[in-house]
Amino acid sequence: MSQETRLIRAGATSGDLVKTVGPPIQRGSTVLLPCAEALYDDDAYLTYGRAGLAAHDALKSALGEMEGASGVSLYPSGLAALTGAMLAVLKAGDEVLVVDNIYKPTRRFCDQVLARYGVAVRYYDPLLSPEDLVASATSATRMIVMESPGSLTFEMQDLAAIARLAKARGILTLADNTWGAGYLFKPLAHGVDISVQALTKYVGGHSDVFMGSAAANDRALVRQLEDGVHNLGWAVAAEDAYQMLRGLRTLPTRLRRQGEAGLEIAAWLAEQPEVAEVIHPALPGSAGHDLWARDYSGACGLFGFVLKPGSEACANAFLNALKLFGLGFSWGGFESLAILCDPQLGKRKFAPHYAGPLMRLHIGLENEDELIADLRAGLDAYAQAIA
Ligand SMILES: *Cc1c(COP(=O)(O)O)cnc(C)c1O
Repeated sequence: MSQETRLIRAGATSGDLVKTVGPPIQRGSTVLLPCAEALYDDDAYLTYGRAGLAAHDALKSALGEMEGASGVSLYPSGLAALTGAMLAVLKAGDEVLVVDNIYKPTRRFCDQVLARYGVAVRYYDPLLSPEDLVASATSATRMIVMESPGSLTFEMQDLAAIARLAKARGILTLADNTWGAGYLFKPLAHGVDISVQALTKYVGGHSDVFMGSAAANDRALVRQLEDGVHNLGWAVAAEDAYQMLRGLRTLPTRLRRQGEAGLEIAAWLAEQPEVAEVIHPALPGSAGHDLWARDYSGACGLFGFVLKPGSEACANAFLNALKLFGLGFSWGGFESLAILCDPQLGKRKFAPHYAGPLMRLHIGLENEDELIADLRAGLDAYAQAIA
């Protein structure tokens, strides 16, 4: 053979790989089929790499184990998982009920995309009872989109009760379970039809990879979700799938550590004179604590707190005095973060009224005494600013 041809054929995989603890990172658009008959036998063979290779399969299988799901679809971001799951099942003429404290970019998708495709969107108060919520559904209502605890304001909903009542009316339920990370809370075990999470947050755990998942048990629904991924053309990189699986290995350990540190810091904050209220469902006495205690096996490191009355400039003085907490929007990584939430609450229909500025903290893996000292310095700056 010519050198040209030999170079094309050289170095092809031998087929037998040594066994490592992680899956091989297999890259490939082309998948070589064993015979001509296999080319069009989609039931027996994977024929194209976009559907995912070894690392993707390993990740899907591990996530399925964690979620108690018979099928898991992967998407290039958490937001893509939310929009993808909705696009996979909704059609023109349907109505979707969306909780008002939903992750803000999900709301933007509902308002700017779903509405354009003829899907009506109605936002509901997260504190509405499951009975009143499902009673407000019409014959057009196809899906209820939930998030509990909700973004920024952490209201808890009774997902099990909503799922049960919705099912009786033939309405699908979807939960954005990024806070529960598929580990602290299992939506499918509580009757929810589709469990979505931004793997970007706790599963990745290192603030450096985007991915999302949608898990389901019902065979037809699993098929519909996977068809949705193929129809819209989404694919994730093998390296990213591998990184997610690596994150999953330490998820329980990180969550336990970050959840405990978060609760300790939340309890400390509740005693500080500059703090009006701590909003953390796992903190006894906090709103939604009973539901959390019933349904969750632990807490993650994300919670909110309200400062005593003060201007946005005073709230910024608190944030600017922090040295260990980074100022940034994501969470779920190893690093502590803080943001002011108030500017994000403007679009809400049922935003709670708070005594002062609403802050959100993500507790990372740093030493908690040092994090507390950092927050104390921030509160000192706040006290000075409001004086
Ligand atoms: C971050 C986040 C998402 C989106 O995840 P991305 O991977 O950043 O797209 C969805 N839902 C919640 C609750 C989130 O916090």
